[in-house]
Amino acid sequence: MAPSPTITLHPAASPAPLADNGKRFHIWTIGCQMNEADSAKIAAMLQEVGYRSTDDEEEADIVVLNSCVVRQAAEDKVAGKLNALIGLKRRRPEMPVVLTGCMVTRQQEVLGKRFPHVDLFFDPSDFDQLQRVVPELAALDDDLGQLPHYYLPAAAAESSVTAFVPIIYGCNFLCSYCIVPYRRGRERSRPLAEIVREVATLVDRGVREVTLLGQTVNAYGHDLPERSSLAALLRAVDAVPGLERLRFLTSHPKYMSDEIIETMAELPSVCEHMNLPVQAGDDQVLRRMRRTYTREDWKDRIAFTRSRMPSATIATDVIVGFPGETDEQFRQTLALLAEVECDKVHLAMYSPRPGTLSARWPDDVPHIEKQRRHRELETLQEQVCTRMNERRLGTTVEVLVEGKAKGRWTGRTRGNTLVHFDDGRNVLGKLIDVQITETSPWFLLGDPAGVPR
Ligand code: SF4
Repeated sequence: MAPSPTITLHPAASPAPLADNGKRFHIWTIGCQMNEADSAKIAAMLQEVGYRSTDDEEEADIVVLNSCVVRQAAEDKVAGKLNALIGLKRRRPEMPVVLTGCMVTRQQEVLGKRFPHVDLFFDPSDFDQLQRVVPELAALDDDLGQLPHYYLPAAAAESSVTAFVPIIYGCNFLCSYCIVPYRRGRERSRPLAEIVREVATLVDRGVREVTLLGQTVNAYGHDLPERSSLAALLRAVDAVPGLERLRFLTSHPKYMSDEIIETMAELPSVCEHMNLPVQAGDDQVLRRMRRTYTREDWKDRIAFTRSRMPSATIATDVIVGFPGETDEQFRQTLALLAEVECDKVHLAMYSPRPGTLSARWPDDVPHIEKQRRHRELETLQEQVCTRMNERRLGTTVEVLVEGKAKGRWTGRTRGNTLVHFDDGRNVLGKLIDVQITETSPWFLLGDPAGVPR
């Protein structure tokens, strides 16, 4: 998985009103959905003992930063944010500043020297550590593990339309460029029954779409004492009454079995959307990346998916400028994406992450060349998306409405395509058919057709 770092300034909101103890927390999150889900868990814990969230760190009684190191730019943003807190910490020394996420390594003394104003560095798998700065959490001790990992995006907070649920932590792969296994450890699946309970709770609270999360989400279950699988989990979660849509992120091609794809095709709630990172289209580059599959393996999984779900949309991740990537090898990636035509491609320029295998190799593709390759793929993808979306003109798609953007309702299709439309009614959290009247490479515009459900 090569998550694209994004910043979230809001924590999750708990739909259940809890006694306000007058204290405020501010959580700043950067990185993948897993970090967002962890931040939501921290928010839920703090809310459970009476804290409330604030967007203003100046009025917070605790500030938590959830960090990402998957790219240098993300790590730089965390360092910038930490340094920006020095003044606040000087004015209010009693306010704990906490750092969690992938930046927190076992060598916390190094971080401590670099950021002496931080009160606590804690490993994201060890939430109990928070008790050191929030003693009230001790009262929850027995229940900490039971608190939901739910995540309610800001736009949808009132109606809790969508939620992320982590199902497996860590990663057993050792892709040569990736820091995740060093920071998140080996794969650890959550018990199936616990996940199903959590989803049922979310649905009770109004959530209509759940995304199951993991760095290698389709590895789910192999490490459990009673061995399970993603296919088995999908079946169990699909059976939760009232759940409309089910997704999962991010899959590894090696684990994308026929059984999982067949199960996706069979279950009504599972969306016809596959997120399957390829990273490169050249087998030699894939070998050096230690991805453990070939270009043909990846193509085969996409072809099988499309054979079982002809309307399936495909998202993938690509890294350009990996050490030693020649122009010819890059052209293999370009040709692959032109041939397969994905609905979404998350593009990244390679940057070495200290501690990984590839960081020991010369970063020998000049930055300007990485940018050129990035642009070339971007241009190709824009053309692909333009064509694909144009084919949707005049069709009617089912949209789950997640909120408003620039005065228009916004939501996603089952294939995860963004749709915007005008409607005088309050359709937040509703499923609504929308007839597509205009297309762009990145989203669709349309008119509501039919009764919101
Ligand atoms: S090591 Fe590979 S499979 Fe594991 S999280 Fe990193 S990129 Fe994904």
